[in-house]
Order: sequence, then structure tokens, then C-alpha cells
Amino acid sequence: MARADSLHPPVGVSFASVSAVPAEHVDELQAYAEAVAGCTRCRLAQGRTQVVFGAGNPHAELMFVGEAPGFHEDKQGLPFVGQAGKLLEQLLAGIGMTRAEVYISNTVMCRPPGNRDPQPDELEACEPHLFRKIELIEPKIIATLGNFATKLLSGRPLGITKVHGQEQETTLGGRKVLLYPLYHPAAALYTPAMLKVLESDFARLPELLGRSLAPIVEPELTLVGSLASAEQLGLF
Ligand code: URA
Repeated sequence: MARADSLHPPVGVSFASVSAVPAEHVDELQAYAEAVAGCTRCRLAQGRTQVVFGAGNPHAELMFVGEAPGFHEDKQGLPFVGQAGKLLEQLLAGIGMTRAEVYISNTVMCRPPGNRDPQPDELEACEPHLFRKIELIEPKIIATLGNFATKLLSGRPLGITKVHGQEQETTLGGRKVLLYPLYHPAAALYTPAMLKVLESDFARLPELLGRSLAPIVEPELTLVGSLASAEQLGLF
């Protein structure tokens, strides 16, 4: 589970990266993390050490959604703490930000055995948790890292190679949000050409954070029901 201190706003957060999230949302996020620490909605519960809820600034304007916890994340209970996390931190440093200023989460909160891909029913089981986090954090931008998060949150089957670097305004949690698909740092670690693209896509984040989005949109029927199933999205 995310540590309590990782849910509190860090000292020195830059004004530009912080939204006007109501204070009660911070408590609700903390309470939600505690409530789902024993989640058994899918089979991943059996093999995990702990739920990796997510971590960072609960007021973040920029939220990252990766794929799934790996070995180190499962042990430490925090997302992106391995090599991919180091690269993510370097990329953030390149735009003058730290991981304490953003919020980082994954499509599924529990480590798939042997780091296999998350299965469609596991993604569906964890989807309400991800959407609740989005509702409470109210990020302006959600940067999806890799195929799984991109397809899940865009509701479209287009792969990351086609859509990386193309921001798209969408409605999540009853609010406008800018979805910004990026290559997964773990993939970029081993492919220099992909790393170059990831760096240049990343460099656009400050400009995107400066954009204004309409704050209020028409109500959604349901958050989860409006999404295509994992299979329709071509996740398998
Ligand atoms: N660590 C995570 O938390 N998520 C990923 O997708 C990869 C590494």
C-alpha cells in the first residue's frame, strides 16, 4: 500500500503543477488506499506481497499510469521504483519536475506472476480503483505509459507506436482531462531510438500543463460502463 506520507503534498511543489483539489479528496484518497489494501477482486491478490496503490502528490496536475507493479514495486509497495522508475525520474528532471510533484499509478495494483502482461479480467477488476484515484486527484494531464494504460484510458485499440505524443482531450471522472500517451520507460531503456522519442514527447509536457481545459463537462452515465472491454481494445 502507498505509504501515508507519500499521499501528503510535498513541500516546495511548484504552483504550475498543482490543481485546486478539495482538501477532503486527500483524506478520501488516503482512506481509499487503506480500504483497498486487502483487495481480492482478481487472482493477482494471491501472488502479491502487497497492493501497490500509487504514490505522489494527491494534488498533482500530472498523473502517470503505467502497466503493473514489478518485483521491486511489489516488495516496496511503491510504483516505478526499479530501473524504469529511475528513467522516469530522469525524464521528469529534464522538465524541471520531481516525482514528488506528480502522481504515479498503474493499470493494475498487484504484480502479475513473473511480470507477465495483465489479463483482461484483471484489468477490468482494477479499473474502478484507477478511476476512483483519477476522480479524487483530478489531474489535468494523464500520461499513459505504454500500450496497456493507453488503450485502457483512451478506450481505443490503437497501439502506442501510432499514438505516442498525440494529446487527446477526453472526459474521465466527470472532468476534462488531457490524455497523453508515451512510450513505456521500461521499453525505452533498451531501445535508444525509442528513448529519443520518449524524451522529445516528454519535453512537451510543460506546454501541455499550461493549456486550459474546460472545467465542467456533461455528466457521464457511468465511468466504468463507458469503457470498452479489455478484449475489444485489443489488449490481447
Ligand atoms: N513499475 C511500475 O510500477 N509499473 C510499470 O509499468 C513498470 C514498472
